[in-house]
Amino acid sequence: MNEVPPATALSNSLTPEVMESYWLPFTANRKFKRDPRLFSGAEGMYYTTTDGRRILDGMAGLWCVNAGHGQRKIIEAIKAQAEQMDYVSSFSMSHPIAFEFAHAIAQVTPGDLNHVFFANSGSEAVDTALKMARAYHRARGEPGRTRLIGRAKGYHGMGWGGLSVAGMSRHRRDFGPLLPEVSHLNHTHFPDKNAFSRGRPAWGAHLADELQQMMAIHDPSTIAAVIIEPVVGSGGVLPPPVGYLERLREICDRHGILLIFDEVITGFGRLGTAFGAELLGVLPDIVTCAKGMTNAAVPMGGVIVNQKVWDGFTAGPEGTIELFHGYTYSGHPLACAAGLATLEVHRDLDLYARTRRAAQRWEDTAHALKGDRHVIDIRNIGLLGAIELEPRAGEPGERGSEVNEMCFQEGILIRNTGDTLVLSPPLIIEDAEIDRIFDTIRNALKKVA
Ligand code: PMP
Repeated sequence: MNEVPPATALSNSLTPEVMESYWLPFTANRKFKRDPRLFSGAEGMYYTTTDGRRILDGMAGLWCVNAGHGQRKIIEAIKAQAEQMDYVSSFSMSHPIAFEFAHAIAQVTPGDLNHVFFANSGSEAVDTALKMARAYHRARGEPGRTRLIGRAKGYHGMGWGGLSVAGMSRHRRDFGPLLPEVSHLNHTHFPDKNAFSRGRPAWGAHLADELQQMMAIHDPSTIAAVIIEPVVGSGGVLPPPVGYLERLREICDRHGILLIFDEVITGFGRLGTAFGAELLGVLPDIVTCAKGMTNAAVPMGGVIVNQKVWDGFTAGPEGTIELFHGYTYSGHPLACAAGLATLEVHRDLDLYARTRRAAQRWEDTAHALKGDRHVIDIRNIGLLGAIELEPRAGEPGERGSEVNEMCFQEGILIRNTGDTLVLSPPLIIEDAEIDRIFDTIRNALKKVA
């Protein structure tokens, strides 16, 4: 076990004055501070709370601690790197581990997605990818290709670019005009057609044709890129209909449009392959990643581009800067060390094969909740899952929140987006833990009003 400070020492320091200063993201702060959920330790599949409870982590933190908490190899790599060199800029200089990590990523990406740009979060990765898409066309003599196409129910982080292409109304509402020249495809969530699909729904490939239909309004020569999550995560875990991604890819190819997969959740093993593109059998031009990249031990994001995109940037004379973009912490040594160790841990554990095996039981156990009270849809792919509950009349989201809280009381950490319970456990999950998560949800569903 990693050392956990005694619970009393931690909670005694949290006077109301101390509690006042921290503004938590995506949180009802005033309510939270009356009854805070506080964690002080993590090991393997479990968190420890400041009051000493063990909580089974059904979310891998926030879809990110894919290899489980407290992996020794990752901790040691971070420590060693911190001792050796804390920081160096990546602007016209670097350090060896950044190259090694980028190369190690390229070894596990499908196809020729072989060039890696480092950012510090999924949001930065997405904004970087969108800027790359526009800059790519400009570099190739098509500066008029600026339109970006996202999708309803998409989540692409909190930067202005990511927010603009994402499709969640509540996230946009308070922030005034977003990026111009953005359009959205519809989502693929049609429970009357594809509820209780196991894995990818059979119905819905034709929804991709909406991209072609958009061209009645927007000339294809004005479109830079389409960005989607190959499997929608935060929007409620929506695996793509069979054939949908193929059709999107085909339409993009026909019109010279770049296809971006936001793999911030699906990257680094979540679906039982290093990247979702491999399992799903469709290659995008650009992939964004973050989260599982360093097992979340150090913040990091990345953009991986294929040979075509790389070539588009490198056609100019040597000595010109390919992209006027980057971050102080791009390629941070601690993050690169953590990331390289993370890939080693994935190999040591044979994590992707293990995930594929666990995913079978995951699917069967999840779908055994079909017919339980309140359940109107169950979705899964890899080690992602969603259980959609019927909203209580006049109180959307309440039933989901209550089940979430009941599970937490029983020692299980899950999430709810409205009335959809979402699950994304560490990929080292054992059968008994899979059973416990769904048993706990089942019991909560029996009790919730
Ligand atoms: N894209 C996707 C698909 C995500 O799920 C997330 C985070 N949940 C992001 C981007 C943003 O990542 P971050 O929170 O690291 O900025």
